[in-house]
Amino acid sequence: MKRITILGATGSVGRTTLELVADHPEQFRIAALTANRDVAGLAAAARRFGAARAVVADPSCYTALKEALAGTNIEVAAGPAAVCGAAAMPADIVVAAIVGAAGLKPTLAAIEAGIPIALANKETLVCAGEIVLQATQKTGVPLLPVDSEHSAIFQVFAPNERRAVERLILTASGGPFRDAPLSVMQRATAADAVKHPVWSMGAKISIDSATMMNKGLEVIEAHFLFAMPEERIDIVVHPQSVVHSLVEYQDGSVLAHLGHPDMRTPVAVALSWPNRLETNCKRLDLAQIGKLTFEPADPVKFPAIRLAREALRARGAVPTVLNAANEVAVAAFLENRIGFLDIAAIVERTMEAGPTGPLGSLDDVIQVDETARRIAASFVTASDATPAP
Ligand code: NAD
Ligand code: MG
Repeated sequence: MKRITILGATGSVGRTTLELVADHPEQFRIAALTANRDVAGLAAAARRFGAARAVVADPSCYTALKEALAGTNIEVAAGPAAVCGAAAMPADIVVAAIVGAAGLKPTLAAIEAGIPIALANKETLVCAGEIVLQATQKTGVPLLPVDSEHSAIFQVFAPNERRAVERLILTASGGPFRDAPLSVMQRATAADAVKHPVWSMGAKISIDSATMMNKGLEVIEAHFLFAMPEERIDIVVHPQSVVHSLVEYQDGSVLAHLGHPDMRTPVAVALSWPNRLETNCKRLDLAQIGKLTFEPADPVKFPAIRLAREALRARGAVPTVLNAANEVAVAAFLENRIGFLDIAAIVERTMEAGPTGPLGSLDDVIQVDETARRIAASFVTASDATPAP
């Protein structure tokens, strides 16, 4: 029996994880479940899976959660510190599936408690990669990637052949605007941008896929997970999302991971590593698919990739600034306050104006994150004042 804690249990990755737990009751038991404000979703999952503890990050939701779980012996708590407390509770694996930098402290709390991490929350590595890696080295806990590309690389990247790896190749679906002209992207609404052609995901990552900032964040994520320099991590657009990523070795061999695009597969890999878990995902039928295509990403339509690469090369505070500015800009776009193309523009301007230099501690990260959010918010407000074309 593996005890699982899910941080962000009510989200897309959180619910996928719970589906796998439901399919394998003999293998898994739920320790803690956390959510931001979705009391009904959290309470229903906590009851169904007999969680030991349920925690909401928003303190104003405490009473509602307490009432929703009345008559059970599920412990109830609220507030950011309680989310960290849940993350550090005894468990065999913590699924880090909170969206954004909000996941950083809880993920670190789990690492410091010595619990292996199934990492979906890529923003944690983008905003504090070095600090997170130091913490995992200190406690020796594995970071098992849930992001499908990184799960693919993890499965074909033999650690004993690390020095023979020449290049990582991340595949990208290209998102909903792969074929759209810039004029269409300029007028795109939140509803247009969240319509991902292949994956059904949370709102923030769906917008990140549309700007391709998601792939930029994934380059940074891959850098920290696999100790690979920026210039040896390539991106190729592959609209069918069947090849999930590739690793090239010095002898010219390229090893790829394929599968029907379904997040249950990478979540299952992380939950059961080094073993495998059976899933009832659709099996791959290559003859039926017929054709797999690959193309380069358009640097003019998708400047976010260049920004993320610049941030990774600059290191220190700059990836933290990139991530914070992107979170602010995506939230503003989802509220119809800025246009779609303003997202990358605001990230770029925040990187120009924001802090640089090394990050020594978690406090430094938090300070840089807050400063960058303030700067990005001021650009959002400035563009509010300008009427949309
Ligand atoms: P989502 O928006 O569907 O879910 C986010 C979860 O985090 C929810 O449970 C929410 O309650 C919780 N949350 C939000 N803000 C919080 C806060 N301030 N404090 C505590 N909890 C908070 O997001 P998702 O699509 O499941 O993505 C989660 C993470 O996984 C992201 O980092 C994303 O990039 C990554 N990821 C997702 C997918 C996918 O298929 N959805 C694939 C790869 C990686
Ligand atoms: Mg991904």
